[in-house]
Amino acid sequence: MFAKVIVDIAHAAVDRAFTYRVPEGLDVRPGHHVLLPFGQGDHVKEGFVLSLSEESGLGEGMAVKDVLSCLEPYPVLLPEQIRLAEWMQEAYHCLLVDALRLMIPAQLRGGRIHEKRERIVYLTDRSAEFQSRSRIQTDVVDLLKKANQPMAVKDIQAFLPGAGPAIGALLKKRVLSESSFSVFRRPEYSQRADERPALTEEQKKALEAIEALSPAQTALLYGVTGSGKTEVYLRCIEACLARGQGAIMLVPEIALTPQTVGRFAARFGDRIAVLHSRLSAGERFDEWRRIRLGKAPIVIGARSAVFAPVENLGLIIIDEEHEGSYQSEITPRYQALDIARRRVKMSGGKLLLGSATPSLLSYYRGLNGSYQLIELKHRVGGRPLPQVSIADMRSEFLNGNNGIFSSQLLSKLDRCLKDGHQAMLFLNRRGYSTFVSCRACGYVLSCDNCDIAMTYHKAQNAVRCHYCGAKKPLPSLCPNCGKPFIKYFGVGTEQVEEQIQKFFPGTSTLRMDADTVAHRDAYEQILSAFGRGEAQILIGTQMIAKGHDFPNVTLVGVVAADTTLNFPDYRSAERTFQLLTQVSGRAGRDKDPGEVVMQTYAPDHPVLRFAQSQDYAGFYQYEIAQRKKCLYPPFSLFIRLLLSDTKEEQLIERGKAYAKELEADLKAALGDDGQGDLLLLLAAPAPIARIAGQSRYQILVKLLRTKRLSKALHAVYDFETNHREDGFLKIEINPQDMF
Ligand code: ADP
Ligand code: ZN
Repeated sequence: MFAKVIVDIAHAAVDRAFTYRVPEGLDVRPGHHVLLPFGQGDHVKEGFVLSLSEESGLGEGMAVKDVLSCLEPYPVLLPEQIRLAEWMQEAYHCLLVDALRLMIPAQLRGGRIHEKRERIVYLTDRSAEFQSRSRIQTDVVDLLKKANQPMAVKDIQAFLPGAGPAIGALLKKRVLSESSFSVFRRPEYSQRADERPALTEEQKKALEAIEALSPAQTALLYGVTGSGKTEVYLRCIEACLARGQGAIMLVPEIALTPQTVGRFAARFGDRIAVLHSRLSAGERFDEWRRIRLGKAPIVIGARSAVFAPVENLGLIIIDEEHEGSYQSEITPRYQALDIARRRVKMSGGKLLLGSATPSLLSYYRGLNGSYQLIELKHRVGGRPLPQVSIADMRSEFLNGNNGIFSSQLLSKLDRCLKDGHQAMLFLNRRGYSTFVSCRACGYVLSCDNCDIAMTYHKAQNAVRCHYCGAKKPLPSLCPNCGKPFIKYFGVGTEQVEEQIQKFFPGTSTLRMDADTVAHRDAYEQILSAFGRGEAQILIGTQMIAKGHDFPNVTLVGVVAADTTLNFPDYRSAERTFQLLTQVSGRAGRDKDPGEVVMQTYAPDHPVLRFAQSQDYAGFYQYEIAQRKKCLYPPFSLFIRLLLSDTKEEQLIERGKAYAKELEADLKAALGDDGQGDLLLLLAAPAPIARIAGQSRYQILVKLLRTKRLSKALHAVYDFETNHREDGFLKIEINPQDMF
């Protein structure tokens, strides 16, 4: 037998299959993780078996080396995963080994993680005539006699502290025998009872429609917040299990809380495994192993869980499908959606996308029939959607209110607190103020390393850069003109918290933003404290907008609804609508109806109006018309090549040369008929021209979506491959932001 093996070295020169002989008696199958001698010096390297064959396929007299051993008793890659990686190599022009590495826990490579084993001991025949003057040895034997079954050493030690040496002595005397078994390290989640409510009519219809999908088909479940999408997911997974199939559900990392997992665990118990970045290495390895060994056919995880080794995959769900976090930002820069589509195509499973605010692209595909569009129009239990009112901050100002809260929001907050309910205040900016400036000369305090204004953080009495983390004390005199007129402008979450104390002294608040959740568990702690009612008001950035279910929240205040609207990005309208809808959806999820106040300086902006009436379809029609007019996505695709270097002049030179070369490559790839597909190729310093001391230059490409698009993409990937060694180039397809 011969094996085609890829060596676990990420280098283009060796990224191909090498042939090895499988020695007699070694059980090697495709997907096995093996050790092999490699190169001139026969250095021992790890590798993955891609396939087996009877013939070596090599010419006469060619030396073939032997596979040395298998690192795990089972293949770590499924045949389907190998095929997926081969497809990725083609589609993203990445190294095959880089794609394969996504499919296994990182610590598996290099033997950095091992199974955890638990020792158990049990009594032997000799225990019948056992007698000892040692009190603790006698206690150990008595305990085991009482238990009348093997016990874990750690349990014995819990009963009899300090029993370790006694157990050792008893083993030596062969009064005890020992054994061990593998245990799985499991992440924690909240324990709760399963509700399994009877489905509403809408949910039933949705479930039927999903069940009726043909293999490899995609459905978009568009359901307003609180319409019971999660219950539909649960039922689809149940159906999958009943057919003996597995399922993967992707959730944005930030929404993957112990509560979310608890809801799935309540229904499916140990049959679920969880994969996300906050797991310890041991937990990740063991969860992966439970999936690979078929103990957990249901996987809930963040983006990379789309690669989980689920066999007989019947369903992939992508919840909150509009989220930007499903796009990977490191090589291979895959989009979870594309991987999911590929996987269901290979397995004959189904793909279900869900959102209350679908991305324009998905809804577009839903309307044109490439996805099956399924709607949940009503909240469960006939609960009304929250009443949304718009507070015009311009007229507040003209009426003499120059504070950060409108009179409307203040009176509603007052009511809410008096009724014993909870409120959430949302503002997409952390810190105390957005920038610091001199009233005399207009100088704006900016970071020494970045072209960015610094933010004032009052708790530390310092200004900080949100891009590189630089921090300096707030100057009392202007560094430019020396006058004492330094003032801070704009509002951040810290200031909202302070103002609440001014208007409602003694109110308990919690604040959730990147500053307060720096610690790993803080995110979770803040949410559960608020859930337990330990604070009346939760103030936060977009972190509080997602998926949380707090029944006692009846009021949501959006402190500045325009912040994201005025971003110089074609997606600003879409993002604003999504964010406003998501935060509004936090109000009135239980028996008490919800209210939302959106504060704005542009009360007539169509996006705010659509968000107010929670009219996604209206918003879609408005926005898709804008996109069509300007040929923005989904009618086109943006690609950004970002170059950075410490030397600005060289960078600009190189950027210009790159732009020329890329333009020629693209034109050649598009051919004579396709020259018009290249809508834009703009080379210039990036909007933020310097971050952390690195100058930045970008080439922005906009391509019309035609059948020639994949040719153009290949040209871009080839360009990247050709310049890989330069080391300062980053390519983003559909960049999440373009600063
Ligand atoms: P979504 O994911 O669409 O925001 P959820 O699935 O979280 O909505 O459902 C909102 C609330 O309604 C949850 O508390 C859930 O337990 C409850 N719920 C869902 N479906 C039903 C049902 N058929 N009957 C009663 N309660 C339900
Ligand atoms: Zn900085």
